[in-house]
Amino acid sequence: MKTVKIKASKSYSVLIGENLINSLPKHFQKAKIGGKLLIITDEKVNSFYGDKVLDILTFAGYNVQKYVVSGGEKSKSGKVYLEILDYLAQNEYTRKDTIVALGGGVVGDLAGFVSATYLRGINFVQIPTTLLAFADSSVGGKTAINLKSGKNLVGAFYQPKLVVCDISLIKTLDKKDYASGMAEIIKYGMIFDKKLLELIKNGMEENAEEIIFKCVALKKRVVQKDEKDNGVRGLLNFGHTLGHAVEKCSGFRVAHGKAVAIGMSIITETCVRKGLIESEVLNTLTELLVQYGLPTKTDIPLETLMEATMLDKKRKGGIITAVIPKKMGKCILKDFTIESWKDFILN
Ligand code: ZN
Repeated sequence: MKTVKIKASKSYSVLIGENLINSLPKHFQKAKIGGKLLIITDEKVNSFYGDKVLDILTFAGYNVQKYVVSGGEKSKSGKVYLEILDYLAQNEYTRKDTIVALGGGVVGDLAGFVSATYLRGINFVQIPTTLLAFADSSVGGKTAINLKSGKNLVGAFYQPKLVVCDISLIKTLDKKDYASGMAEIIKYGMIFDKKLLELIKNGMEENAEEIIFKCVALKKRVVQKDEKDNGVRGLLNFGHTLGHAVEKCSGFRVAHGKAVAIGMSIITETCVRKGLIESEVLNTLTELLVQYGLPTKTDIPLETLMEATMLDKKRKGGIITAVIPKKMGKCILKDFTIESWKDFILN
């Protein structure tokens, strides 16, 4: 097992290893998690692990309840959010009690926002169950729900008391979730770490603990420098400006991870074409994406994608901050005006 200690507005540990679920009570006690526990999970994860986690914690003497949402983005609604708050109030949960998020990004965001706001904040533990949630969303304290007008429009920064990444869970992931997670993991290597790219090349299965550890440690470095998301954290948007455009222009038929893979490819290819970086960077990226079944191209015309990036929410006052590769394992932030951004990508 490996541990990453996060020092944000609250300090907490992220544990990474095999079969950690079996020893949850020990980790909970060490992190001083007491009181009643409410496991929030979705139907799919519940069918694999819901009762297992509930039984292990109950057997260790915890008073545990479980709340199952249907899953998917529609579970991040105001309606579901309020229903959970009512459930907590009816069952007399207090600030000494704890919410345990068991699931991927959706469950983490929803349960996190419930934790941040019920009684102005109760204890929160995350047990992520997807690669993406391991490497990305379980560190950083971003929580949110959706509005009809858009995703993640209501939320809070709220840090958990403990994050348990049990990497044996990834064996039950379906291919789609797996590929999406790999896109974000490759993203970390491209932005920060040449050695991480080598580990990924040598195989995710064999190096899962080390790879997740590296991603969490990298995310930690970024979050500690920039907890409220206004500087270096922007680097994590590598591939996302164009990626979001691919998602939007495909009517969300292209999944997030695949869209990010395409976004990273387009911007890296542009930098090679302009002679800003060695072609080896693009070759490495392409090889890794192909190795993990991710796309590098789209049929959507580049002009159409560019129009969509202009509407991206990250756009501030006519300035588009793009993340561009500088060399192998290093990206930088670069500001463009709308005109220079168009010119950069299209010419
Ligand atoms: Zn992403």
